[in-house]
Amino acid sequence: MDVIRHRFDALVVGGGGAGLRCALALAEAGRRVAVVSKVMPLRSHTVSAQGGITAALGNMEPDDWRWHMFDTVKGSDYLGDQDAIEFMCRQAAQAVIELEQMGLPFSRREDGRIYQRAFGAQSVRFGEGQAHRTCAAADRTGHALLHTLYQRNLRAGTRFFDEYFALDLLRSTQGEVTGIAALSIADAGRHEFHAAATVLATGGAGRVFRHSTNAHINTGDGPGMALRAGLPLQDMEFWQFHPTGLPGSGSLISEAVRGEGGYLLNAAGERFMLRYAPHAADLASRDVVARALAMEILAGRGCGSQGEYIHLRLDHLGEAVIRERLPGIRELAMRFANVDPVQAPVPVVPTAHYMMGGIPVNLHGQVLDRDPVPGLYAIGECACVSVHGANRLGGNSLLDLVIFGRAAGEHAARTIAVDAPLPPAQADWELLARLDRPGTGETVACLRDALQRLMQRHCGVFRDGVLLDEGVRELDALSQRAQQLVLTDRSRAFNVERIEALEFGNLLQVARATLFSARFRCESRGAHTREDYPQRDDTSWMVHSLYWLQDDRLGSKPVNLQPESMPGFVPQPRIY
Ligand SMILES: Cc1cc2nc3c(=O)[nH]c(=O)nc-3n(C[C@H](O)[C@H](O)[C@H](O)COP(=O)(O)OP(=O)(O)OC[C@H]3O[C@@H](n4cnc5c(N)ncnc54)[C@H](O)[C@@H]3O)c2cc1C
Repeated sequence: MDVIRHRFDALVVGGGGAGLRCALALAEAGRRVAVVSKVMPLRSHTVSAQGGITAALGNMEPDDWRWHMFDTVKGSDYLGDQDAIEFMCRQAAQAVIELEQMGLPFSRREDGRIYQRAFGAQSVRFGEGQAHRTCAAADRTGHALLHTLYQRNLRAGTRFFDEYFALDLLRSTQGEVTGIAALSIADAGRHEFHAAATVLATGGAGRVFRHSTNAHINTGDGPGMALRAGLPLQDMEFWQFHPTGLPGSGSLISEAVRGEGGYLLNAAGERFMLRYAPHAADLASRDVVARALAMEILAGRGCGSQGEYIHLRLDHLGEAVIRERLPGIRELAMRFANVDPVQAPVPVVPTAHYMMGGIPVNLHGQVLDRDPVPGLYAIGECACVSVHGANRLGGNSLLDLVIFGRAAGEHAARTIAVDAPLPPAQADWELLARLDRPGTGETVACLRDALQRLMQRHCGVFRDGVLLDEGVRELDALSQRAQQLVLTDRSRAFNVERIEALEFGNLLQVARATLFSARFRCESRGAHTREDYPQRDDTSWMVHSLYWLQDDRLGSKPVNLQPESMPGFVPQPRIY
């Protein structure tokens, strides 16, 4: 089959917030840039971000980026790299103002300044009282962000290749990355995109779990591509379980609800968070709240006929506040839980939400395999820089997207040699060819369901060595079964099913990285809770884990505890 070749200065794989911010920096610097995306960019998962973007603007009370930095370091359970966190928090206010000037319609205070809401684990004066630091466009911040960036890109001349599925990186024998191989979803055409800089911005992989707030497209394709190119993934044991997803659908009920004054209740009507986090209560860090919910349910204090969920109460906020600040949340609760939060509490359960780990990168977004890999960048949720460490704070992901999206775009625009010949690299179409061979086994849907159940059972909120060992054995067996995968529909939807099979292949590899990394880390830190190692162990485990697909190799590298402009924050016990 013919291959159609394209050449650009730079290539961004993914049209979410990170990809669009990066493409904008490249286009505005005069580079010829293409965004290749498996869905139309405005359908990227960023569109569903509700709660907001965090920055110390100080519009509600005096604020300081160093307080934001302290909260982020503590929130990360001291695993975040402090130079990266400093880099992000220091530029946050300016980044939000830049978005405002691009036209992002932020919610306002009466006096016209940007409104900011309280989010979990936000403090003033290094842990003293609750801060209000998250800027929002009602509860549709991601939607507003994505539209703003998309329009700016159209104006700047970015080229869009919508509904093209990136299969694998093109890598020369010397190791330079020179582009990607991709499949056009509409007509199954084979394409090679060549560029001096390739940026992976493929988002998260939350679909590896059965109960997830993530879109169905969040299948870890970028991490899969990196692993197959021989590159490592970092900190893959750290998955955030959001405390408040709707049972069944997994739809997210944003932390903004608790930020606006909502609170959690068990079956006895007790505000149990006061027991787990006496100071911050419902606005403790997400890992702390998610664990508390799981423990209440396990202890038989859950609500509902089976005691299977917790109540989130917000009717006391009044209809006017809910209508103005949380309209999308109300709609979600009514549609997916049949509950109007103006009248009754919303049922919630901890739900897989965010991948703290990812492709290791430096502050410029350059992918690291000890040294930067020539020609390759990664940004957004698929990357690990690491600003979120072992637990991300709400509102810090949208910030991460725009700060590191821009940094990577500017670095690439500065350093790529335009029109220089690229070293030859051969696309390997084997991944596709394998799918065209008739299988004798199970369908993608069936295998994916088995994988998601496996991960939920063996690598959920609570883990231990025995559970993880069994998980690895079951994954090996599942990977064997996947060799015989069968595509059922060879006519109408054939291409869609093929894409799902390719996505499933990436999910399998993400799951493998997660299980192996979780088994490797013998301590409890942030979102990684090992019941057989219940304490944080700074002596042995103040390190980032690394995982390579070849031979399931594991390694580690030190955490950067040294910011540039001040002494680092020394690890403390984490109390909220
Ligand atoms: C429901 C929900 C609410 C959230 N709310 C907030 C919030 O309020 N504040 C906050 O800070 N964070 C929030 N988050 C987290 C945050 O929204 C995400 O981490 C962030 O939007 C990810 O952005 P991204 O640009 O990395 O990827 P995404 O927005 O997920 O975009 C990924 C892009 O990659 C493309 N892609 C993927 N694979 C391929 C492939 N193989 N080939 C071609 N293209 C590909 C997709 O088409 C898409 O365009 C929320 C997350 C969820 C799920």
